[in-house]
Amino acid sequence: MTPGTKKRVLSGMRPTGKLHLGNYLGALANWVKLQDQYECFFFIADWHALTTDYASPGRVKSNSIEVVLDYLAAGLDPERSTIFIQSHVPQHAELHLLFSLVTPLGWLERVPTYKEQRENIKGKDLGTYGFLGYPVLQSADILIYQADFVPVGEDQVAHVEITREIARRFNGFYQLQGRDVFPEPQPLLTPAAKVPGTDGRKMSKTYGNTILLSEPEPSIRAKLKTMVTDPARVRRTDPGNPDVCPVGDLHKIFSDKQTMAKVNAGCRSAGIGCIECKGWAADNIVNHLAPIQERRRKYENDPRLAWDILEAGSQKAMRAAENTMQQVRAAMKMSREFEPPTLAAAGEEDGE
Ligand code: SF4
Repeated sequence: MTPGTKKRVLSGMRPTGKLHLGNYLGALANWVKLQDQYECFFFIADWHALTTDYASPGRVKSNSIEVVLDYLAAGLDPERSTIFIQSHVPQHAELHLLFSLVTPLGWLERVPTYKEQRENIKGKDLGTYGFLGYPVLQSADILIYQADFVPVGEDQVAHVEITREIARRFNGFYQLQGRDVFPEPQPLLTPAAKVPGTDGRKMSKTYGNTILLSEPEPSIRAKLKTMVTDPARVRRTDPGNPDVCPVGDLHKIFSDKQTMAKVNAGCRSAGIGCIECKGWAADNIVNHLAPIQERRRKYENDPRLAWDILEAGSQKAMRAAENTMQQVRAAMKMSREFEPPTLAAAGEEDGE
């Protein structure tokens, strides 16, 4: 495939700090694979972090660096993908403004995560214009690269839908020489493994039950030791079932067939103890993370290297974003080219 003919993919994460196994298996590992097939843009959504953390922005920048270290550690390759930071490409903000002019308020008020998050995130005033408008910013993030696909999990397909609606509405109002400026991006469904946290609930920073990609080996082993198991195994002699045990779920992700066979037989017959079984799971997680942590160390020792990658990626992203903005401005009759004044065309007077 020659450069420029690949379909475009865009995705990003909020900089909430070091990434965990749930982030990795739910998104990042898939992004690494997409790099072979698509022209990929992966970004750090620092402005999105401010939609909820506007009152305390102190950690956003250092969290962004932690995220890019994890991106690079996981195998995102700056030679193949454009890796950048949202706030360094101001065109996102310009497109956000223009989209906000055409987006009906009702579309935003009915976004399911809007109400849900306003109720669930305590201690922050989220009754702001920026928080309500975050799906518009998200749409600008995607459409400014005229992306064909957005990798998402099943539960996020609705987020791509509003982007498609905004693209459609923009294209309905404004055309560039008789053609649409924006393609309607498609969700690219990510087959997501169920990643349990140490308490058995979904792994999430909110629950404090994570295992980080950068977690040191002793800490991984200690966390596994305290992990919840099949409640039927009260005593060592009680048989259990790996299908209802969070440690069993980790084995399904990280262990090979032989280990799975030992876990299945040993757990169901009470032939093994949970401590032994957890030790095998820890071994396999440690092995899986070893090359990732090795790559991370290189950038941890010289974070400037990672920052330079972000800067170079942001410059590259800016060129692509500016290319789209020139089309947008032309379609909206806001081009920066000089044009002599003309009488307003019939029917276009705005009545001022
Ligand atoms: S033996 Fe393993 S799979 Fe079975 S309950 Fe214990 S930890 Fe879970």
